[in-house]
Amino acid sequence: MATKKKSAPYAVPKLKDFSAAALDKAAEKLLAALEDESSEVKTEADWKTFRDRWMARKDGILTQVNDLWLKAAPKEAKRDAGQRVNQLKLKVEQGVEAALARAQGGGAEPFAADRLDITLPGTRRPLGAEHPVIRTMNEIVAVFRNLGYSMEEGPVIETDYYNFESLNFPPNHPARDTQDTLFLANQESKPLRERLLLRTHTSPVQIRTMEKMKPPIRIVIPGKVHRNDPPDASHSPMFHQIEGLAVDTNITFGDLKGTLDHAMKALFGSSVKTSFRPSFFPFTEPSAEMMVSCFICGGSGKRGNEPCRPCKQTGWIEILGCGMVDPNVFQFVKQNGYDPAKVSGFAFGMGADRIALLKYGVDDIQLFFNGDVRFLAQFG
Ligand SMILES: [Zn+2]
Repeated sequence: MATKKKSAPYAVPKLKDFSAAALDKAAEKLLAALEDESSEVKTEADWKTFRDRWMARKDGILTQVNDLWLKAAPKEAKRDAGQRVNQLKLKVEQGVEAALARAQGGGAEPFAADRLDITLPGTRRPLGAEHPVIRTMNEIVAVFRNLGYSMEEGPVIETDYYNFESLNFPPNHPARDTQDTLFLANQESKPLRERLLLRTHTSPVQIRTMEKMKPPIRIVIPGKVHRNDPPDASHSPMFHQIEGLAVDTNITFGDLKGTLDHAMKALFGSSVKTSFRPSFFPFTEPSAEMMVSCFICGGSGKRGNEPCRPCKQTGWIEILGCGMVDPNVFQFVKQNGYDPAKVSGFAFGMGADRIALLKYGVDDIQLFFNGDVRFLAQFG
């Protein structure tokens, strides 16, 4: 610095003349000062002082320019002044940035913190893993994909029509009570079938798909569902279902049994057996619950001398609900080719979380959803 001729530091002048030419002249002087001072920046400390002098919000040179050249300009000169002040702002910002780069890139005192130490280990970015529930769902979807099913998805917020009415749950049907539905607030003024709710099952996607695709169809539907269940070891207000639907001419209960038996062997091993017993669902007739022989104890009900807990010593695990599509359901999509006199079909649905619990030997469903990385890391 001693080699430089000393002159008074640059100060932003008040302008009397706001003509374009006068503004340009003033801007030129300012930029010369910027360049001059920038060339003096050698260290981090220098740069900070330089930056603050030009850019400090309170009383930095840019702020003064704004006050003295733009705010003080008479009305007719505002446009010219504004344009120039904006250009100056940009140039000052670039100048300050360039000064930093220059100081860092080999000035008298390169910033110690920015020196590269190639012997330091890199930043580790841990790879995530598929969540056990998602992994289970993907496995189930893959089994049905191999059978020629395609995957369909639908909205989590549904109308009463798709969640209940079109699935043969008429208003006031007692089966509605078994699904503790979470409704969206302030829907009372709407007709019942238009009211919004968090879907209680993935079945609305069956209707939505039949509305857009003519038979034959074979679809598998994974997704989130919600019910007003207080959380405990086996319940969660949010959980996951996978269901399937096949519609064609001449589909029989034998097709249903054969398909599901094959799927269970693909999922749990070729030695598992399946068993069906009668049940009730509003949208299938006849309906059944399907059990698989316990793939944990091999159907014996015992693990060594200990009782097998997952199957409650029965040797069987209840795994899904299924049945032949009720002709009443087809009535809602009859105009798209689903004439119950001509087509038949079967549907099935299972809880993905429950299957994941069994598969991975986890005893509390809450562990899947409370986001403890120590738990989830075991599935990586
Ligand atoms: Zn068992």
